[in-house]
Amino acid sequence: MTALRGLLRGNAAVNMRTAGRWISSVAAESGFSFPASQARQGVAPRRDPGSRNVQWVFLGCPGVGKGTYASRLSRLLGVPHIATGDLVRDELAATGPLSKQLTEIVNRGQLVSDEIIIDLLSKRLEDGVAKGESGFILDGFPRTRRQAEILEGVTEIELVVNLKLTEDVLLAKCLGRRICSQCGGNFNVASIDIKGENGRPGISMPPLLPPEHCMSKLITRGDDTEEVVKERLRLYYELSQPVEEFYRIRGKLLEFDLPGGIPESWPKLLRALNLDGHDEKQSAAA
Ligand code: ADP
Repeated sequence: MTALRGLLRGNAAVNMRTAGRWISSVAAESGFSFPASQARQGVAPRRDPGSRNVQWVFLGCPGVGKGTYASRLSRLLGVPHIATGDLVRDELAATGPLSKQLTEIVNRGQLVSDEIIIDLLSKRLEDGVAKGESGFILDGFPRTRRQAEILEGVTEIELVVNLKLTEDVLLAKCLGRRICSQCGGNFNVASIDIKGENGRPGISMPPLLPPEHCMSKLITRGDDTEEVVKERLRLYYELSQPVEEFYRIRGKLLEFDLPGGIPESWPKLLRALNLDGHDEKQSAAA
């Protein structure tokens, strides 16, 4: 429990409502404009003296498993997992001009504009505050140095977890990714078994198959084709690797090489985060 307490410091620099508003206003100062609802004034910052919020970020290439591990940790720590990719996909599923515009960008493997992504994130943070959420694990944001600077201007990120896998594994994982169109569950049909060579450790990841009732409802993300995944990886190296450096020089980056599939990686990740020994919570999160 001590290790957990150590991590769950209750001194979040700003609360979620403030973060939501500040993201909007700082972004506006950077030249963005936001809807009136995002710029509203006079909302008193809420700080619960007893609250223990974590404000963490998950970084990593497409397909590395940020969503999987961030959502498990969010259940373990009782904070929301906020994935900007999910916010974008929710918009894609809606009808209207924004959805059409976003579909074209996402299916080319390109990044959505900072203006749109910050607007979606601000709304999500504000909705969370209204529901009493505090703290967060961000996944997919920040993705550029500029986004990292904007975030730094509005709130304190305590820890940044950088998940790593080699490119051949990332490609196989993206191409094997399947989603149940009914329950939204994430699965993977890829069977990865790469032998170690030249000092590089081998890696084995068995498929993560869906239950019988999801089998006939599996879909593939429109941006998980080989061509688009390669473009997303290229963009990651170009735009998102500087984000790793941004946090590395601030002493906030925890590098984590995934050793294999979930059963092997999850306990090791908990240990790296000083969260091991919380077996009952661990099984609740599984
Ligand atoms: P990935 O598997 O590539 O990490 P995500 O699910 O995080 O994918 O995001 C899907 C898509 O949503 C991205 O390719 C990009 O178009 C858009 N997106 C998500 N987060 C951001 C962000 N912070 N900035 C710009 N675009 C984003």
